[in-house]
Amino acid sequence: MEFTLSDEHRMIRDSVREFCEEEIAPIAQDIEDEHRFPAEIFDQLAQLDVMGVPVAEEYGGLGGDQLMYALVTEELGRVSGSVGLSYAAHVSLASKPLELFGTDEQKERWLRPLAEGDYVGGWALTEPESGSDASDMNTTAEKDGDEWVLDGTKQFITNASEAGSVLVKAVTDPDAGYDGISTFIVDPREDDGFEVTTIWDKMGLNASPTCEIQLDDVRLPEDRLLGEEGDGWDQTKKTLDGGRISIAALSVGLAQGAYEAAKGYSKEREQFGQPISKFDAVRDKVVAMERKTERARLLTHKAAWKYDRGESVTKESAIAKLDASEAAREVAEEAVQTLGGYGYTTDFAPQRFYRDAKLMEIGEGTSEIQHLVIGRELGL
Ligand SMILES: Cc1cc2nc3c(=O)[nH]c(=O)nc-3n(C[C@H](O)[C@H](O)[C@H](O)COP(=O)(O)OP(=O)(O)OC[C@H]3O[C@@H](n4cnc5c(N)ncnc54)[C@H](O)[C@@H]3O)c2cc1C
Repeated sequence: MEFTLSDEHRMIRDSVREFCEEEIAPIAQDIEDEHRFPAEIFDQLAQLDVMGVPVAEEYGGLGGDQLMYALVTEELGRVSGSVGLSYAAHVSLASKPLELFGTDEQKERWLRPLAEGDYVGGWALTEPESGSDASDMNTTAEKDGDEWVLDGTKQFITNASEAGSVLVKAVTDPDAGYDGISTFIVDPREDDGFEVTTIWDKMGLNASPTCEIQLDDVRLPEDRLLGEEGDGWDQTKKTLDGGRISIAALSVGLAQGAYEAAKGYSKEREQFGQPISKFDAVRDKVVAMERKTERARLLTHKAAWKYDRGESVTKESAIAKLDASEAAREVAEEAVQTLGGYGYTTDFAPQRFYRDAKLMEIGEGTSEIQHLVIGRELGL
């Protein structure tokens, strides 16, 4: 197995890193404190042409691969978990399914504006009463003449309050189990009956809106059905295989940001007449941070590399997400510790990485569910 970065991979990564340091890092704490979605940052990411990295150029994307997308997501996470999370939901969950399962007309109408960054997108699977057991949903879509009528509540939907389109999962045949779920393209700005009822206050990631949505008699024309009726669950599994790679990449970014902050600080801060990095206990922490971050990055790149070869990545993406999310939390926690009292203040970034990292063990399938997925793939 060999996965190497091409010149193009490095070029995109480096230009995104430069943008992140110049434009995102200086406001990363402010947007959290203000609970503000930084629309201007997403406009600039569109100018950099990275809002549709793994989407074909034909539909306004960059035509890159999953590895390139992972590199970009990592760079965003290295400075802001919120920007990274909204970006990952936009690309993996809201855009990619349109490319994979949409008609040419749907791609032109719905994918192009997402890939070109005219607005962000959302993806609505979770409900108040169905999270890990996601197929057990209550949202319904019933046919009425040549329209679909959607009713239900969706929970914790990233970007919904800012989105130009949201892909909504709903039951179209209550007797068909997994084969009774379908996906619909909803326009939150134009479709009557769509309402964001809550934007949650969270322990981190507050610049990335997490929304409860009410769908009340939302009437959609037939061409809003994505793929075939009954394909919604199968699409969900494929979407999450790719999505988990991006959550892994985002976790690697959070770990990298925390590691760099701790390493830099440990060389500057003096106690007992020498830099604290000279104490074995501190040095070992920083070494462990580097080891965990690099291990998570390799697992993430391996999953992305296999994805790009068209192979099944259910196991690899779950392993990468499980490992990288755990690494991000552990590295960020140790980074707070390395900065001592300063690490506990919002003047320094590690506390933010620590709070943001926790979500990575919950979203797109909790760590417990990743264990289930991996066990199933191992035939256990
Ligand atoms: C910030 C944020 C952003 C999100 N963005 C989106 C989004 O854009 N779109 C979307 O659809 N969803 C989104 N989610 C929802 C997220 O995917 C769910 O919260 C997650 O899947 C867990 O579901 P739940 O919260 O209902 O927890 P539950 O499923 O109720 O789980 C509670 C606990 O029980 C454990 N558990 C459940 N079942 C099992 C089992 N079989 N074996 C072992 N343990 C189990 C879980 O691991 C967890 O520890 C987001 C959530 C957050 C917090």
